Amino acid sequence: MKLYNTLTRKKEELRTHVPGKLTMYTCGPTVYHFAHIGNLRSYIMEDVLEKYLRYEGLDVTRAMNITDVGHLSSDADTGEDKMLKGARREHKTVMEIAKRYTDAFFDDCRKLNIKRPEIVEPATGCIQNYIHMIEVLLNKGYAYEAGGNIYFDTGKLEKYYVFHDHREEDLAVGVREGVEEDENKRNRADFVLWFTKSKFEDQELKWESPWGLGYPGWHIECSAISVRYLGEYLDLHCGGIDNAFPHHTNEIAQSEAYLGHPWCGHWFHVHHLNTGDGKMSKSKGEFLTVSFLEEKGYDPLVYRFFCLQSHYRKNLVFTFENLDNAAAAYGKLAARIGGLSKEDAPLDEEAAAALRQRFLEAMGNDLNTAMGITLLYDVLKANTNDATKRAMLAEFDGVLSLGLLEAAEKAGKAQEEDAAALEGDGEILALIEERQQARKAKDFARADAIRDRLAAMGVVLKDTPAGVTFTREKK
Ligand code: AMP
Ligand code: ZN
Repeated sequence: MKLYNTLTRKKEELRTHVPGKLTMYTCGPTVYHFAHIGNLRSYIMEDVLEKYLRYEGLDVTRAMNITDVGHLSSDADTGEDKMLKGARREHKTVMEIAKRYTDAFFDDCRKLNIKRPEIVEPATGCIQNYIHMIEVLLNKGYAYEAGGNIYFDTGKLEKYYVFHDHREEDLAVGVREGVEEDENKRNRADFVLWFTKSKFEDQELKWESPWGLGYPGWHIECSAISVRYLGEYLDLHCGGIDNAFPHHTNEIAQSEAYLGHPWCGHWFHVHHLNTGDGKMSKSKGEFLTVSFLEEKGYDPLVYRFFCLQSHYRKNLVFTFENLDNAAAAYGKLAARIGGLSKEDAPLDEEAAAALRQRFLEAMGNDLNTAMGITLLYDVLKANTNDATKRAMLAEFDGVLSLGLLEAAEKAGKAQEEDAAALEGDGEILALIEERQQARKAKDFARADAIRDRLAAMGVVLKDTPAGVTFTREKK
């Protein structure tokens, strides 16, 4: 497949080190709060990418970390650990917070049809791997100790800002407004590998290390977890675009310094979901979650559909109006699929091959999911039998995971129920009309008998100036 690579700023063929096998790493959530639907946009797009690569026949192994230590409240090294903030907010321990929000994250993933990666590793599970990596970096001269912390020395690299052409000063964390300069750093872009000293002394989780009791920096976890589970050569690394700098830039610096060779050749970044007033962010306190959408009556898969309608490299603006449009389109599509007959006809191989080819062209061109969805409508219009249409929709939905056939089934059932209810209404209306005629003919015994019969059916009549209306008793 051709996939845009942030590293080369080009759409490129995605290559694997071992033919037929692909290793994929995803930066996981920081579990100090619920994931917001912006975070989940990234995970939805990464999920479609993984499923598409499998569809193309690759044997994918995917690993993801769960950040439960070390991610500070500024991406520089001066803030407080986000996990600790979460624990304080809820009067719980850090590990309780981590469990609560890891479970909540996977619950959201389940609702959004996001597959769980084969390997999921909490950052606190690999402390010895970080210590080993940092020791090697120290031995090789890529790291130094200052003020009790171990820093990565970006001055030792030929090129540190791998993702950007901009002037280095514009990007350096130290000169961003509102971020304090850490006096221990040799270079402004240096970052912490291991903390033993921080101005926040109440860090809850600490581990013994050759440099004293402390905890890892945020970036080292992804390098170490990736190397541990996916080996020294990684084929594809994913994350939201805000991770490109400094997180991924630092991952590349330390991984390649540690390994002594290039590490990951292809970087996939999902652009942000924004609200009308800017980027969605957990640290802002109020944010949209999947549960909130459900409370408002939206099927989580409608949100997935909404995300897939846009390209992952474009910012996406979330409004309820946009989501309503997606819900209407999703409902109509499901209803149309529900209208296909369930005939048991043989697969029309020729039509299937042509549709498959178009799906590969759309999705294989930088994951054009919007075109992938358009193709679903083309399947419905295709000149072939309904059995083939159903089979192709099921095949493509194996990648898009919109639950369309299930939704179609549900929509079909609801329609049948409505029809049954309408038929029931027809009978009631006929009885009401008969009662009116009886009353006109002063046959009150007959009118009362009809009223009793309706009452037995759970129908309550009401005589109004506009005529007789009825309600059904709740069962
Ligand atoms: P975090 O839980 O903050 O570590 O973020 C989890 C993932 O969500 C990372 O890959 C981020 O880059 C990504 N992310 C954060 N904010 C957004 C957003 N507004 N839209 C899309 N992805 C986001
Ligand atoms: Zn990461």
